[in-house]
Order: sequence, then structure tokens, then C-alpha cells
Amino acid sequence: MSFGFFESTDTDRIPEVILCKLGEVVLKGANRQSFESSLIKELRRRASPYGVFKIYFKQSTVYVEPQNDECDMEGMYSVAKKVFGIVGVTRAAVCEKNMESIVAMAKRYLPDKLRGKSTFKVDAKRSDKKFPLTSPEISRDIGGVVLSLVRGIRVDVKNPEVTVTVEVRDDNAYIRAGQEHGAGGLPLRSSGRGLLLLSGGIDSPVAGCMMAKRGMEIEALHFESFPYTSERAREKVLTLAQQMCEFCAKIHVHVISLTHIQEELRDRCEEDYFTLLLRVFMMRLSERCAREYKCGALITGESLGQVASQTLAAIGVTDSVVNIPVFRPCIGLDKEEIVRQARYYGTFDTAILPYEDCCTVFTPRHPKTQPRVEEVMAQLEKIDFDGLLEEAWGTMYTVTKVVYDGYK
Ligand code: ATP
Ligand code: MG
Repeated sequence: MSFGFFESTDTDRIPEVILCKLGEVVLKGANRQSFESSLIKELRRRASPYGVFKIYFKQSTVYVEPQNDECDMEGMYSVAKKVFGIVGVTRAAVCEKNMESIVAMAKRYLPDKLRGKSTFKVDAKRSDKKFPLTSPEISRDIGGVVLSLVRGIRVDVKNPEVTVTVEVRDDNAYIRAGQEHGAGGLPLRSSGRGLLLLSGGIDSPVAGCMMAKRGMEIEALHFESFPYTSERAREKVLTLAQQMCEFCAKIHVHVISLTHIQEELRDRCEEDYFTLLLRVFMMRLSERCAREYKCGALITGESLGQVASQTLAAIGVTDSVVNIPVFRPCIGLDKEEIVRQARYYGTFDTAILPYEDCCTVFTPRHPKTQPRVEEVMAQLEKIDFDGLLEEAWGTMYTVTKVVYDGYK
């Protein structure tokens, strides 16, 4: 069996392709080509564990064509749903573009896809205007096929449960039933690089994925405070980074120890300011890390008013100590909304494991919720701020996580 792209020795196997519909990429005017090429490159990188696929862009759709029987279509399909820049993913059967083949393929392909559904409509499109039937004629014929083969199903043109699409394109005809949502957003690596402050909580992995969705390549920084935080707490963070790679593909996780800083704060500063002072150190170290690894912004999982260090005044203080954009994509989300996102990105179950974070070590009993920058700075006078920063910077090491071994 051959359709120009697919040679199969298995005559029972229906030749299928995966079609990916692009989202905002199509609005990109002059930059469109570079967005498209970022997307195609990413899909090609992500496809390699699933076999040999030909991936190309044509008539505002990305085609993912298996090149032999060994290709894992299920695997490739679920990956396509996690590639940012794609809004819709569907599998389509391919046949020659004549009505006899289209009807024969519809008979083989559609009953399985539509069984148990209550309503459908057929949407036919012809980019080959020389095709002898008009779009309404194609729709009518294929609608008739479905009605005769799927028991109990009805036509509903206004609000169908499934839309069957028949597309007669330049090369072949494509038949598909329904379309699933893709991950949306912009292709990875199309919006520069951001440094995510990654804790072991629910919020920061979501924040990282949200910015990756806007095309940012994610680099992560985790602060630990061994022995006050445990080996298991660090492993949990690395697991979260690994899970994020399903969407973010590759993440370098830098780890810095705050142990000495926290001990100094505990011994020399007023307790009510601990968390804020710690955040000042975190922000300054993060800014340095961002510059070192060419990240144009910091990303945090803060949500306004969620905890004492996330009041407007506290955020004002943390923002004032760095000179780099700080993205807080969760700022306007409720916890419930963040949890929903965490489940979608696959990080929730790990995030709720109950290990300590450096922010929960030596927590003040009455944290300042309305701090003033000058008060916080006055506390920093009591310690060797620059020396401690330098020492902490020296503790940094890096672990790299990738979506699969061999991902570049
Ligand atoms: P999360 O659920 O992401 O842990 P949180 O609600 O617990 O957030 P905080 O502990 O105040 O809030 O932390 C706010 C943000 O600061 C986090 O979302 C994260 O971006 C950053 N952060 C906190 N702890 C760490 C850490 N140990 N290492 C790196 N970043 C951290
Ligand atoms: Mg936290």
C-alpha cells in the first residue's frame, strides 16, 4: 500500500497521519516563518523515540507522517498534544483523492470512531477545486455512509457531538472524526529564556509551564538548606523538573545552598523579617544566575495574598532588590485554578508530597505582611550580605533533566 509517504506491507492497516493545527503562530506576520520553524524543530526532536516520521508544514497544518509500520502512532499523538504552539491535534485516515476511495475509506475508518456517539455532521473541504464533486455533495455522500453504518446516530449540523472532516487536498484525501485540544501557546524557544525559581510546591512548576507555554525555554533554580531540608525534598524537586519536561522538554536545574544564610538570619536578625530577608537573598542569587545563564526574566509561582510574603507590600520589597523582569504568571489565579493547571501539567501528585522547603525552615511566628523596604534593608545591615551571597553562589551545582534520553 502506498500514498506517496507511507509504504506498508500490512494490508489491514489503515494509513493514518497526525494533523496538528497551529494556534497563534498563524497571526505572527513577518515572524511567522521563524515561529513555524521552531515548532517543526520541536516536533521533530520530540518524535524521535516514536519512530521515523516525516514532519512538515503545508496549507496551515503540520503533517506528521509515519514512514513505516513500526511507528508508534499513539505515542506520537500524545506527544503532539504536549507541544506548545499547537491548538488542535487529530488523527486522519489517508486515501486517494477520488470519490470511490473516499467512500471506501469512510466505511472502514469512521464506524469505530463514531460508535456510541449520538450526533455528527460532515464538513467537507476541497483545496483541489478541480475535484468533480462539490463540498456539499461530498458531505452528503459521506453522511449517508455514516448513517447506514452507525446505529442510532443522527445528523446535527448546529451542535454535533463529533464533526467528521473530509479534506480533498492537492496530494491525497484525508478523513478525520473530531479533534482534541493541543497545548496551545507559542513554540518552545520562540520567546527567549526564563529562570524559574523552583520550589517543591504546587505553584512554581505551574508558573514554569505557563511561561513555557508563551514560548520561553525554562532554566530552573532551586534553593536547598541541607540538613534543615532533606535529600528527599531535593529529589522531589528534581522529579518535578523531570515531570515538567513533558511540556518544557529540557530543564537545567541549578541548586544553591542557603544553609549558612538562614543560620545567620536566625542568629542576627529580627524573626518577623526572616522570610522576607531570605527572599531578598533568593532574588539576588536568582538574578545573578539568570545573567550567568542568559535568562531575560525570573519566574516565580507567587499568587497575590496567598501567604505573608506574597502581599502587595512584600512583593514590592522582593521586586525592589533586583533589576530584571520578574514574571509571576500565577499572580491572579486562585489556588483551585493553580491546582487544575498542576494536574494538567502532571506535577500535582508529586507537589503535594509533604517534604519541607527552605522557606518553611525557621518560619517566623508573626511574619511582616506590610514591610517597608528601608526596614528590610536595615535588618540586612546586621549581617555580611555580600559575603553571604558570594559564599552561597559558590555552592551552586547543576542537574539536567530531559524529556527523554538523547533529547538535544
Ligand atoms: P510553591 O507552591 O511554588 O512552593 P508557595 O505558595 O509555597 O509556592 P512561597 O514558599 O512563598 O510560596 O514561594 C513563593 C515562590 O518563591 C515559589 O513559587 C517559588 O517560585 C519561589 N521559591 C520558594 N521556595 C523556593 C526554593 N526553595 N527554591 C526556589 N524557589 C523557591
Ligand atoms: Mg513553597
